[in-house]
Amino acid sequence: MTEQEPIYRGKAKSVFRSDNPNELIVKFRDDITAFDGAKKDELAEKGIYNARVSAYLFEYLRANGVPSHFVRMEDERTMIVRPLKMIPVEVIVRNIAAGSLVRNYPFEEGAPLDPPVIVLDYKDDARHDPMINEEIIVALGLMTADEIASVKKTALRINDLLRERIDEIGLDLVDFKLEFGRHGDEILLGDEISMDSMRLWDKKTRTSMDKDVYRFDKGDVMATYAAVAERLTGA
Ligand code: C5P
Repeated sequence: MTEQEPIYRGKAKSVFRSDNPNELIVKFRDDITAFDGAKKDELAEKGIYNARVSAYLFEYLRANGVPSHFVRMEDERTMIVRPLKMIPVEVIVRNIAAGSLVRNYPFEEGAPLDPPVIVLDYKDDARHDPMINEEIIVALGLMTADEIASVKKTALRINDLLRERIDEIGLDLVDFKLEFGRHGDEILLGDEISMDSMRLWDKKTRTSMDKDVYRFDKGDVMATYAAVAERLTGA
């Protein structure tokens, strides 16, 4: 395995080429950022917990018929994945009103959303990830209407599966963000599913168990991430 300069460096992960052209190396770093990078810190071992939870959930989804870019873990913070040509659309599924939905629309925080609400954002930090609609996605040539329909269906299936599992550990899946990419003719789930990309509330106390703890200084971020990882994966 060769590791030189990353071919892509995101806010919390770096992507490297590998000797195998059908595999990329994703390293989960300890960086944590919020508000389009305006707030940033490094928290020891954060990358390990996010990698562990992400790998666990990708495996859980695969076992339930939802494939992704995940191939295997190389070490505790290094994931081997299929190379994807990422589509710059964030697919957000919301079961309970929170975050930007409450800031931008007249929802009461904590209101259940049934059926779940899917929000599509255009991934572009400089533009602050504006909400995008299906017509704009098609007009930009990012996906066809059929592809959008298929991605939304997959996102709802993932929501059902994640909710079921997260419910078992005493948490509510409030919302989460997915990213997809092209692998040959297929569109596959990529990126990560972690405490950085999900909102999780304790069922009893309704306290945040996710990146909101960091965003809004609600407590010990690493203790929170470690607790979710432990409850979900047993490690
Ligand atoms: O900020 P907002 O309420 O729109 O976020 C919805 C969900 O998507 C949250 O779980 C948040 O952590 C996640 N998200 C993300 N990356 C972004 C924007 C949102 O993982 N760039």
